[in-house]
Amino acid sequence: MVKEYTHFINGRHVKGTSGHFGDVFNPNTGEVQAKTPLATAAELRSAVEAAAAAFPSWSAMNPQRRARVMFNFKALVENNMDELARMLSMEHGKVIADSKGDIQRGLEVIEFACGIPHLMKGEYTENAGTGIDVYSMRQPLGVVAGITPFNFPAMIPMWMFGVAIACGNTFVCKPSEKDPGVPLRLAELMMEAGAPAGVLNVVNGGKEAVDAILTDPDIRAVSFVGSTAIADYVYRTGTAHGKRVQAMGGAKNHAIIMPDADLDQVTDELIGAGYGSAGERCMAISVAVPVTDKLADALVARLKPRVESLKVGLSTDADANYGPLVTREHRDKVKSYIDMGVKEGAELVVDGRGFSMQGYDKGFFLGGSLFDRVKPDMKSYQDEIFGPVLQIARARDFDEAISLPTKHQYGNGVAIFTRDGDAAREFASRVQVGMVGINVPIPVPLAYHTFGGWKRSAFGDVNQHGPEGVRFFTKIKTVTQRWPKGGVREGSSFVIPTMK
Ligand code: NAD
Repeated sequence: MVKEYTHFINGRHVKGTSGHFGDVFNPNTGEVQAKTPLATAAELRSAVEAAAAAFPSWSAMNPQRRARVMFNFKALVENNMDELARMLSMEHGKVIADSKGDIQRGLEVIEFACGIPHLMKGEYTENAGTGIDVYSMRQPLGVVAGITPFNFPAMIPMWMFGVAIACGNTFVCKPSEKDPGVPLRLAELMMEAGAPAGVLNVVNGGKEAVDAILTDPDIRAVSFVGSTAIADYVYRTGTAHGKRVQAMGGAKNHAIIMPDADLDQVTDELIGAGYGSAGERCMAISVAVPVTDKLADALVARLKPRVESLKVGLSTDADANYGPLVTREHRDKVKSYIDMGVKEGAELVVDGRGFSMQGYDKGFFLGGSLFDRVKPDMKSYQDEIFGPVLQIARARDFDEAISLPTKHQYGNGVAIFTRDGDAAREFASRVQVGMVGINVPIPVPLAYHTFGGWKRSAFGDVNQHGPEGVRFFTKIKTVTQRWPKGGVREGSSFVIPTMK
């Protein structure tokens, strides 16, 4: 029986009315397990109205009370961790331990948001002029929206609504139509935690819903995470309609390996960061850059048997390294990039295309692939593949290695493996990428720092979560006050006030 998802508007599940649906697959079997209603602009509008109605009292509530709702929500998510992780694995295809990681990374942002009374404090100057005080305060924007990708259906919605709601905004979330089960459940839990109806709404949909968000006059800010083409579109359209927009896009993350690195450690790290979650992570390592041919030969010799012996399995298999990809279409796209790499002349050291899972031949599985001698002019290098494919691009020296991620169109994450502090320091300073790991393969910043790439990996100036997240979801107001002493009049002044 195929389940039909709903929207979650004003604290209630609402049946979709458009008659259009997206498919939610079970990636293990290839079967359609649920249908996601694709909202019309009118359905999206009803969520905005619910959020707008909830805003005055939610934003006026003292921040400590809002923080208590966040504390309750955190506890509820923890209590429901197993159910949420299973749902996530069954829709996305990542293994259960990884789904728990997805939820946990989101919860870390909720923990950060529990500190909102402190985070929203403004500044104060006493006696800025004689008898004049100046103070500033951060105020929420109003109704704000988040549009999220399929690959982190728990973490990324929590990045956005965690900070936005704690700041006093009300929220409309438009999750990926491929795996909306977890975001819908999170909205139920937020209500259970004490958020009033309308504070967190989930509207399912595709382009029509996104366009309705980008043009709605009452939505003040839009946070987007997804592929670069859509991020670019969302940024341009949203800002043209007067909204504050942050739009995170695709990635191609390089790992530079210096000749002095611990190669066994690097091999372990590359296997985890390259193939975990079937490579469907915006911070996955997709290109390894060994410096010198000698090191490259040694690295390939170590990686080859490890890639050949990766354990691909059902998303519910606790022993699997990774599970199926999210859809057949996406799996086939990844395969076509492997075909392309071969045609372009890269050396396919391990070919995962032939893998099939016994008893699950309709599942969206793909074995791990490894390419060597990948060159910067190849399209399979320039594009994001987003699958279990690691490419090796050999570099002659440090300068050539640093130039690869620096010149690449994407600039999300990058890593360097070395024992040389001087080289690492220079690398971190020079490389044109937003998040840098030094002997750390997936440098996803913690919740109280901020997440964001450079170049075509992010549009807009403000990062996700951390202090930048608070800035994104608030506006600053500065008040200059004077309380005149009784009976003293200063008369009119026709010049701009300055400090005497
Ligand atoms: P996607 O761009 O296909 O979808 C993202 C969102 O945009 C979804 O909600 C989707 O419904 C909506 N959308 C899709 N097509 C649209 C269209 N034509 N018009 C308007 N809206 C549309 O991305 P995805 O496949 O769900 O996610 C994977 C991508 O996200 C990868 O490129 C990955 O690198 C990127 N990603 C980036 C980050 C980051 O922080 N930089 C994090 C996670 C994922």
